[in-house]
Amino acid sequence: KVAIRSVQKSFGANTVVRDFDLTIGEGEFISLLGPSGCGKTTVLRMVAGFETPTRGTIEIDGQDVTAQRPNQRKIGMMFQSYALFPNLTVAGNVGFGLKVAGLPREKIAARVDEMLATVGLKGFGARYPYQLSGGQQQRVALARAIAPQPRVLLLDEPLSALDAKIRVSLRAEIRAIQRQLGISTLFVTHDQEEAMAMSDRVVVMTGGKADQVGTPAEIYSRPATRFVAEFIGALN
Ligand code: ATP
Repeated sequence: KVAIRSVQKSFGANTVVRDFDLTIGEGEFISLLGPSGCGKTTVLRMVAGFETPTRGTIEIDGQDVTAQRPNQRKIGMMFQSYALFPNLTVAGNVGFGLKVAGLPREKIAARVDEMLATVGLKGFGARYPYQLSGGQQQRVALARAIAPQPRVLLLDEPLSALDAKIRVSLRAEIRAIQRQLGISTLFVTHDQEEAMAMSDRVVVMTGGKADQVGTPAEIYSRPATRFVAEFIGALN
């Protein structure tokens, strides 16, 4: 569970996120949807701990983490570009966080195998990232993100670099794995269709603010503002 309370973020005189409140329930999948520059990534980076809010607080499982560093928060992350370690094998990538946490070697190996099976890459452990397709690399990135059993999953446009066909199948896979783990998830995208298809709830953002928060059905049938109506209308 994540609670973002009255958060604001300014860079100098430029306020890029304002009056932002959001609760991500246990196991809930929420998308931040909006045009380029509306502040989506900044919200995600504050939950991750890469940015500190200018005002407001962030809680994870009831604990105020606003002042905690990223490595103290129980989060897993996945980005648009695969960001795998090119000089490590697939197993080395997936086990990286576990090694840092000091887990014994046999435990790491078992967990890595389990994670690779979860993302459909059983037997790929000895390969290197350059030997994999884009979609396979993103599965490795997902396995790496969930291996340390984080409490929150943060996904920043993880599908946007992939071909349309792979993008649609990975959508369903990410969602199935997220459901199976029951992990609270924040997903950043500028793709209306993706947000509407994947999410329990969608936050439509513009100019650093949430214009509307609701289920895809609510947003589609009762857009709260003209901006939301037009942005969602791009679906058709
Ligand atoms: P995109 O999809 O293009 O990444 P976004 O909705 O995720 O857009 P953000 O990346 O959150 O938007 O950026 C929101 C605004 O904040 C932009 O105007 C950006 O230039 C500004 N911004 C983000 N990070 C910084 C920073 N470290 N210093 C100054 N300005 C920043």
